[in-house]
Amino acid sequence: MAYQYPNKQEMLLAKVKGKTGKISDKTHEEHLKLYTGYVNKTNAILKELEVLAATLDPANPAHANQIYSEIRSRKVDLTFALGGVINHEIYFMNLGGKGGAPTGKVAELIQQSFGSFDAFKKDLKATGIAARGWVWTGYDPKTGLLFNYIGDAQNTFPVWGVKPILALDVYEHAYYADFYTARAAYIDEFMNYIDWDNVNANLGL
Ligand code: FE
Repeated sequence: MAYQYPNKQEMLLAKVKGKTGKISDKTHEEHLKLYTGYVNKTNAILKELEVLAATLDPANPAHANQIYSEIRSRKVDLTFALGGVINHEIYFMNLGGKGGAPTGKVAELIQQSFGSFDAFKKDLKATGIAARGWVWTGYDPKTGLLFNYIGDAQNTFPVWGVKPILALDVYEHAYYADFYTARAAYIDEFMNYIDWDNVNANLGL
């Protein structure tokens, strides 16, 4: 049986509802409809791959071909769909907190990686303005440091081995209804409601 990802829409809405200031509940409700689309498509692709596996023939170009094929179309878009699941689950769980200065191990790592919380905030904001879709604060176990990675789509540009601990959605659907084109103001409001306990839990150190 193909693995099927659970839809955590209700739990995610409860995490943020009434707890994110000017980022409205209506925005979250609409946003979570998109999240549900990612869950449903991820699960559909996994089921289709399971069906295909029963008759899969690597010598058949309809099945396996780098230009267009059953395997290629599903495996490429699986990363987009599953990225949409993972990114949004991190994003919503990151929100609904008290914001302000970071706590715990994350506070220490921000200091080590950026020099100060202020420098981290500036880098996160600049990266968010420069991104077309996402910013992820990730922990790289190889360097022992944090870095704010840029993501243009759900599946770009992750780095193997890096663990995302904070996800900032900068697609217009995340803020346009509340902030219009003022993305920087949305990022400021996002920072006002970060749940640092959740970010520390994601870090897991
Ligand atoms: Fe989104």
